[in-house]
Amino acid sequence: MTENLFDKKLQQIKADGLHRQMRYLESPQGSHVRIAGEDILMLSSNSYLGLCFDDRLRSAAHAALEQYGTGSGGSRLTTGSYDIHKKLEEEIAAFKGTEAALVFATGYMANVGIISAVAGKNWVIFSDRLSHASIIDGCRLSGAEIVVYEHCNPADLERKTSRYRGRQGLIVTDGLFSVDGDIAPLPALVEIARKHQLLLMVDDAHATGVLGKNGGGTAEHFGLDGGIDIVMGTLSKALASEGGFVAGSHSLMDCLVNSARSFIFSTAPAPATIAVSIAALDIVRKEPAARETLRGHSLWFRKELRTMGFNVEDHPTPIISIVLGRPDVAVDFSKRLMAKKIFVSAIRPPTVPAGTSRLRINIMATHKKEELTRALVAIGDVGRSLGVISS
Ligand SMILES: *Cc1c(COP(=O)(O)O)cnc(C)c1O
Repeated sequence: MTENLFDKKLQQIKADGLHRQMRYLESPQGSHVRIAGEDILMLSSNSYLGLCFDDRLRSAAHAALEQYGTGSGGSRLTTGSYDIHKKLEEEIAAFKGTEAALVFATGYMANVGIISAVAGKNWVIFSDRLSHASIIDGCRLSGAEIVVYEHCNPADLERKTSRYRGRQGLIVTDGLFSVDGDIAPLPALVEIARKHQLLLMVDDAHATGVLGKNGGGTAEHFGLDGGIDIVMGTLSKALASEGGFVAGSHSLMDCLVNSARSFIFSTAPAPATIAVSIAALDIVRKEPAARETLRGHSLWFRKELRTMGFNVEDHPTPIISIVLGRPDVAVDFSKRLMAKKIFVSAIRPPTVPAGTSRLRINIMATHKKEELTRALVAIGDVGRSLGVISS
């Protein structure tokens, strides 16, 4: 009976062309990976700086394993809080230029915990149409009224906030959008938040370590000094570790420690993971060269795709979406690239709106120019054979 229920659900997912399956890596996550014994060029990793197998990070993990062992043994408020958790939080605060910071087990848990703790039922939350799923889930969990504004559109946000004058509220957005690879118009959002006395929260999961001269993220990219009340990010992408974080005022952190349920009721990240995050933050701050290489690769790769005639927007970021439309075309494209030993993920609903299925390419600082050139040739060939671009 229950089996039939699951089968029915799966049949529908398959009929919609939305069935997804995992691929298993047999190597570290780098610009190359091994899958089913084959060497594959990786163009879909969030490890933008290529640090997942970095010697320094592995040494930091080894040292912490020796000193502290494996699991943290408890939630942060019981017995899972270590001196290195505090050190990491101080480093994150310094990195983001805030009074304080707090670490969660994942970025997803950070968003869900922060938003549901900060906003109550009588609040209104203004959320970008393309906000990440974890932001949406946090908004829903808060019980607040949710008002979606058009993607990266301050004029629409301004119109909508005006209708709620006097209501306690929060504006929330991705900094660097995880699928479209565009950047939220933060200076305008800061202005609107100030004018209407709303809190502003920015999710810098993809921007941390990637945007800004020091890798500080979207605010640094715009040269903003303050104005963002809640800076959220993750240690799991460019920083090659695991965990989410929030940076902001002391009182915000104290509030979250006392009311964010995903913080209170979940085991603290393991000491070795924390040690890796501390070491990665240090590398990110001290080594701007990798970031410059990443930026150069990204600008060039994007320009080449546009020249070939692909539907690619122009943004100064390493996330490059080739919008194709139909999910089956995206999947076919991805499979044909895999046959050429190139890994590019097909992104379909519910990750993106219906009709905008696409390939998402993530450039890494450790890609070699000739590898990227090979990828461009392959993408062009497949694009022509599928009629996506003209020959
Ligand atoms: C990946 C991501 C998250 C979740 O972070 P994890 O550490 O992977 O749980 C949150 N927000 C955005 C925008 C993301 O891209």
